[in-house]
Amino acid sequence: MARPIPDVPSDSEFPLQNLPYGVFTRPDEETPRVGTRLGDTVVDLKVLEHAGLFRDTPLGETHVFCKRSLNKFMQTGRTCWDAARARLTALLDGSDARLADDADLRKAALVDCDRVTMQMPVEIGDYTDFYSSKHHAFNVGTMFRGPQNALMPNYTWIPVGYHGRASSVVPSGTPVRRPCGQTRADEAEAPTFGPCRLLDFELEMGFFTGPGNPLGAPLTMDNAADQIFGMVLVNDWSARDIQKWEYVPLGPFLAKNFATTISHWVVPMAALAPFRCAAPEPDHPPLDYLRQSDPPEGCGPGGWAYDIELEVSLQTAEDDPFVISRSNFRHLYWTMQQQLTHHTSSGCNMRAGDLLASGTISGPTPESFGSMLELAWRGTKPIRLPSGAERKFLQDGDTLVMRGWCQGDGYRIGFGECRGTVLAALDA
Ligand code: CA
Repeated sequence: MARPIPDVPSDSEFPLQNLPYGVFTRPDEETPRVGTRLGDTVVDLKVLEHAGLFRDTPLGETHVFCKRSLNKFMQTGRTCWDAARARLTALLDGSDARLADDADLRKAALVDCDRVTMQMPVEIGDYTDFYSSKHHAFNVGTMFRGPQNALMPNYTWIPVGYHGRASSVVPSGTPVRRPCGQTRADEAEAPTFGPCRLLDFELEMGFFTGPGNPLGAPLTMDNAADQIFGMVLVNDWSARDIQKWEYVPLGPFLAKNFATTISHWVVPMAALAPFRCAAPEPDHPPLDYLRQSDPPEGCGPGGWAYDIELEVSLQTAEDDPFVISRSNFRHLYWTMQQQLTHHTSSGCNMRAGDLLASGTISGPTPESFGSMLELAWRGTKPIRLPSGAERKFLQDGDTLVMRGWCQGDGYRIGFGECRGTVLAALDA
């Protein structure tokens, strides 16, 4: 392969094999546009599109990269996604010389990543959050109902989820205000209203959907994967005390709707394909509509997982970023194909740019748990930080950073970071 344009540091999470999509503004122009990232450089795809470099692909004159979000590009579907990626790869590795040989075009299209401001990449129409880590469901169930009744009888049959709130999904770096809400102490007769006292994070990943399906026409296990555009890191900030009082009988509501943070760059499924792996063996065969007719080699009928390393760090006033959890996306009981197929099985329609998150990605061991609730086991085993400080839940001023990557042979496909700092509640 020719040398990529521009040079990519050998330890970069954004090598030529990644080429994620994001939305950014340049220092010299306020209009957001679509870009990709190579090493420490953001490639302005609006400029390449304007230069006609996608005109002879299936994208034609669709002008998807001058938009303020990725939705229009997501709407075009797999053939266009593949063509755009192939063209970008060729332009950036020099095998298509039209960028390499044009100094003016290079100057216009390549921007140092420190000089751009990343924006929300997608206008999210609908956001759904699943509950697909059996380890997480078991841990939470054990804490609240005991190990004998930890898992609900539906858990191994249904990819359980709830409809979340799209308006409060924010890009990495956005501060998170501690919410106020109604809570009730265990012995109290009446609830009170005030700042959340048990603020938590949830380590998750999410995927964005492609063109989608018409209302009344479900997707199937055999075509669902084609509707998955790419993935991001997700922090489903959670107010445990508010959740505890409000969740019966309809599930999470205000405990989850005050902020959900996503990483800036959407990593396309094509970049993740080398990291496909078998999903965990199910406890029993799923119902037929959640089985593939002809699973690829090495995969079960439920589809496949991805080997994505995940890491959570906590930074406090006294402590540098300190890793408090290491997990992996491959631990999830339900696959993305099963989540998407189940979601549409009622006839529910998906639209381009819907976000479907995984649920907390806890692994089997205590150091791989994906929330403070589990790491500190409901406050009974506080996390000890290097300064000697302890945490049962998040405090004002704490910064939570999630990272994720796939480790290839001599390269790494990264997701960047998913970061948020907790601000004091408004009336505190
Ligand atoms: Ca969640």
